[in-house]
Amino acid sequence: AETSAREAQRMQAMGQLTGGIAHDFNNLLAVVLGSLELAKRCIEADSPILPRIERAIWGAKRGASLTQQLLAFARRQPLAPAPIDLSATLLGMSDLLQRTLGKHIEVQVVDAAGLWPAMVDATQVESALLNLTLNARDAMPDGGRLTIEVANKVLDTDYARQHTEVSPGDYVMLAVSDTGIGMSPEVLARVFEPFFTTKDVGKGTGLGLPMVFGFAKQSGGHVKIYSEPGEGTTVRLYLPRAFGVTSSALPRPGTPVELPR
Ligand code: ADP
Repeated sequence: AETSAREAQRMQAMGQLTGGIAHDFNNLLAVVLGSLELAKRCIEADSPILPRIERAIWGAKRGASLTQQLLAFARRQPLAPAPIDLSATLLGMSDLLQRTLGKHIEVQVVDAAGLWPAMVDATQVESALLNLTLNARDAMPDGGRLTIEVANKVLDTDYARQHTEVSPGDYVMLAVSDTGIGMSPEVLARVFEPFFTTKDVGKGTGLGLPMVFGFAKQSGGHVKIYSEPGEGTTVRLYLPRAFGVTSSALPRPGTPVELPR
């Protein structure tokens, strides 16, 4: 019985890890497909370029279906945590986020003066933010507001006692709130289950929040979700503070990829 329990645990962990890479890859393929689709609309119907674009679209779609089959074999990159300034990360991503959300959703960034640097993997934090933004977009089909807040948080022993998965200490909080449809308690209870989704086939993979959860946990932080049906959702990531560096001394983040609307 012990072996099969361990096996089940192993399978679940595998699913989570391999699912992560397919999910990221799908996000990137959406960038490729969106841009190709846009390019296709911009050229004449008799253009000699058209068959090439059509072929590229076919390739990107084929890639998207392959990622599904590769789930069982792919392996996720290990985390490479380093001190980063989350304000700078947000600044570097704000164009991308606004583009992802479209004009009918307003993006508001609430920055904190003297924000501590966080000890996290920069790529993973960006992909977590993108996941949360895509979920917020899906939750606000008729528009709304997305608020991203960063703040220093000290979690005391009392808080840690109430949340068993948390150790007390200094954290950098990254909160993403939307004014969307919210979640029922039944949905909220299941969002960290790999492959749990309420979205249509092809729209949701059910891997976004499990990835965010895994990332926070592996980083030594944690994630909390508050949601009210009809009111909206807030996802709070508590990421460990990096000691011995000041944010202003950190390198600026690179230019992020741009997602088409
Ligand atoms: P996916 O987005 O592919 O469905 P996730 O793991 O990111 O996978 O989310 C799981 C489910 O949680 C979603 O299908 C949706 O029902 C719910 N959900 C996640 N984020 C939000 C949000 N911001 N507002 C409302 N529901 C959400």
